[in-house]
Amino acid sequence: MTHGPYAGLHVLVLQPEPDEHEKFPFLDLPAEIRNMIYSLVLERPGYHIRLSGKHSGTIQTFWYNPKGRYIPRDQIYSTSLMRVNKQISVESTPYLFSRHTFEFTDSTMMQRFLEYLGPERTKSLVSVVVNQQYAISIRQAYDLLSVATSLTKLEITTSYWYPYGAHILLEWPSVLLPVFHSLCSAGRSRDEVFDMITIKGAVRGSCPEHGTFRIDLDKDCKNEIKAYENFRKKLRDDIDQEIDKAEAKKEAIKRGSPVKTRAGRKTKAVDYSGMED
Ligand SMILES: [Zn+2]
Repeated sequence: MTHGPYAGLHVLVLQPEPDEHEKFPFLDLPAEIRNMIYSLVLERPGYHIRLSGKHSGTIQTFWYNPKGRYIPRDQIYSTSLMRVNKQISVESTPYLFSRHTFEFTDSTMMQRFLEYLGPERTKSLVSVVVNQQYAISIRQAYDLLSVATSLTKLEITTSYWYPYGAHILLEWPSVLLPVFHSLCSAGRSRDEVFDMITIKGAVRGSCPEHGTFRIDLDKDCKNEIKAYENFRKKLRDDIDQEIDKAEAKKEAIKRGSPVKTRAGRKTKAVDYSGMED
């Protein structure tokens, strides 16, 4: 070596390679033991995995503990075990995807991630959060999600990230129409879909005790809970109406019958309902 504290000394580089008999026969272990190992390596109960990044390029993953605190990558065990081979990947998949909440910055990110994941692994998802809905990706994103037959929790936080004063109240029924369409096409009932959906940041109100609120459902405030219940009741009615309207339109198009426009003129039906097969 010519530089540094070892200057003047010779270096011998050895690269140890395990003999065949020294390799650990992981797949020879009983399935229960392998499952225990998957659980220990991959499972972080109550943790969120947030996926974000630019819409083209690398998808980044960030882990958050149940209290919402970011956990640096080096404090999370590696998921590289899952990439060892096909069998291990299949066996270990539920330990990552069924045991954590997957949070997407927006529907485009969800679409990208689910395309990458493929339907087999998407099936394992049970809990999903989507922060922003984009018209450009919402249909595809929820179509991809519809194969997640074990999904029980879908949190939608559209408008949550807008500045507090902006007060943008979305057309929730129309935002949710494609969500219902995708998930119901996969065999779920409207009730089932409605029950799994939580909406955050949807309603503004105030409470004498807690002050102004914007529904985030984390607080123990009766007024906030009541405002949310009222919001949901109305939303359910509105969604039923929207879906029925969209289905009627679809029927009309099938029959080729003209529908009345708002101006009362008769015109051929155009499908802007977004309810085609
Ligand atoms: Zn209160």
